[in-house]
Amino acid sequence: MNKPLILVVEDDKPIRKLITTTLETQGYKYHTAETGEASILEAVSSQPDIMILDLGLPDMDGVDIIRKVRAWSNIPIIVVSARSEDRDKIEALDAGADDYLTKPFSVEELLARLRVSLRRIRGDSEKLMKDSSVFTNGNLRIDYSAGCVWLEDDEIHLTPIEYKLLCLLAKNVGKVLTHNYILHEIWGSHTYDIPALRVFMATLRKKIESTPSQPKIIQTHIGVGYRMLQAGDDSKVI
Ligand code: CA
Repeated sequence: MNKPLILVVEDDKPIRKLITTTLETQGYKYHTAETGEASILEAVSSQPDIMILDLGLPDMDGVDIIRKVRAWSNIPIIVVSARSEDRDKIEALDAGADDYLTKPFSVEELLARLRVSLRRIRGDSEKLMKDSSVFTNGNLRIDYSAGCVWLEDDEIHLTPIEYKLLCLLAKNVGKVLTHNYILHEIWGSHTYDIPALRVFMATLRKKIESTPSQPKIIQTHIGVGYRMLQAGDDSKVI
């Protein structure tokens, strides 16, 4: 991939400057937009590889921008929000955002999130060329056609729910999935039993994580949801 193009949507000048300076030092190309309307025009015209999106813009709610962009594009969207409430993050993730940063954030956090998103883009294009019936991530291997899961050379025996949960996270590797999204995908529409999800996640981790109390494969986002990390990602648990 050539230098990735990042679209930075942020109306706060000092924060925009912090982000663009960071991108510059790392050799990323970027475009900026200060309003929702400008961000959508820019997303259409410049076709960025990743979008960094502030949720609080003067003319439009960031969540509406995510919905509009998602109507035609699958690019990774990293939400930046001053609002620390979980429900804003959850709303943005459910609208199709991939990840989030809460202000104030460090340059290291921003770069870690970008690396996760870049791996997702690269993973997507590799997947198109590879046999899509087998998923590999570090030591973990899922053979979808056989319905088998392996850790190195050991076959792991999962219950049907654990298997569905693992496949859902694998299908969305690198992306934060909200509790409600996971519950909806695994159990159908009207179940919001987060404690049950935690129990299944704990039993799944016991089987696939070498130290379940310090998970390396499935990351917990407290109050928000879970994410499967790409092997080698250094994104910290939030
Ligand atoms: Ca703002």
